[in-house]
Amino acid sequence: MHSLADLSKHDLETLFDHIQAAIALVDRDGNLISWNSAFDSGKRLFPNSKNLKDLFLQKDAELIHLKLQEGSREHWAGEFSVTERDAAALCDFWLIPTTKEFMIFVAERIESEVDAQDMVEKLRKQVKLFQVESETSKKIARNKQIEMEAVLAQAEEVAHVDALTFLPNRRTIIKDLQNEVMRAERYHSLFSISVVDIDNFKAINDTYGHPAGDEVLREVALQLRDSIRHPDVVGRYGGEEFIILLPNSDKTSAAEQAARLCRQIRSRVIRSKEHDLHVTLSIGIAQFRVGEDSWHSLLKRADNAMYDAKNNGRDRSVVAE
Ligand code: GH3
Ligand code: MG
Ligand code: MG
Repeated sequence: MHSLADLSKHDLETLFDHIQAAIALVDRDGNLISWNSAFDSGKRLFPNSKNLKDLFLQKDAELIHLKLQEGSREHWAGEFSVTERDAAALCDFWLIPTTKEFMIFVAERIESEVDAQDMVEKLRKQVKLFQVESETSKKIARNKQIEMEAVLAQAEEVAHVDALTFLPNRRTIIKDLQNEVMRAERYHSLFSISVVDIDNFKAINDTYGHPAGDEVLREVALQLRDSIRHPDVVGRYGGEEFIILLPNSDKTSAAEQAARLCRQIRSRVIRSKEHDLHVTLSIGIAQFRVGEDSWHSLLKRADNAMYDAKNNGRDRSVVAE
């Protein structure tokens, strides 16, 4: 049996230095024990910082402190200094407990061009490359092996699924969109997309609190998933925005679906603790034009149509020209 446990400390460092996410080993007080080069370039803005908390905006320092004290496995999003260019960037964060005293902290830029799945594949290849047979080192590093396998399993999962709604995440839905574009170009097949945005969602958060907002997001996600038909897929594109792909559908069928979704969400009561909440959707639809559209321009057209729906009074759909 070969495994990650066979890697020397040096090999692990090489591995981590080739991952574009910022990775650091911290103790439960946030003191930085060691970190990879991606983390280091973020740290360069604050060369004297010895604590993870220093790299967060002041308003978030307390949150990271609590999470570290809690010591449990965590995944959330927020702002963090990870690049030399930006003071703070929107990131996905993971905290992975290792031993009683230490945790692995991972920060990955959300709008990063790096494809997480490709990264997992690359990691796997590198792991194979580094495999060295050694019974003694295997024994010594057995715990490390379990940790690393857990990290890999976690990486695989977070590469595909949105943690709040369990829908395909942004990367996955964009990848599906890119595949659909390739298929349409090759076979001149038909397809459309819808960009779905919850109306006045900020007011839900502001009035009933963030957990109620999360509840609404989960409910809407569930409703969208249950209301579309095979082979349509829905993914979470951003905060309160979703994308639906409709293979083999023209914009008229997509518009019919959108009208149905608006109707269903409008009449749905979302129960959150003692409150009954109501939300509506604005939906923008665009049909792919072979020879003219890229995945990006298609998304842009659907997004503009969604904003037209907002400007026309919300709770409706608009089809892009
Ligand atoms: P509009 O009708 O124009 O879309 O207004 P809006 O309030 O929905 O739009 P806006 O973009 O101003 O607000 C979106 C809000 O969504 C802001 C942000 O705090 C919130 N949000 C984003 N992600 C999450 C999340 O995961 N959970 C919760 N509870 N809120 C989130
Ligand atoms: Mg929005
Ligand atoms: Mg909105």
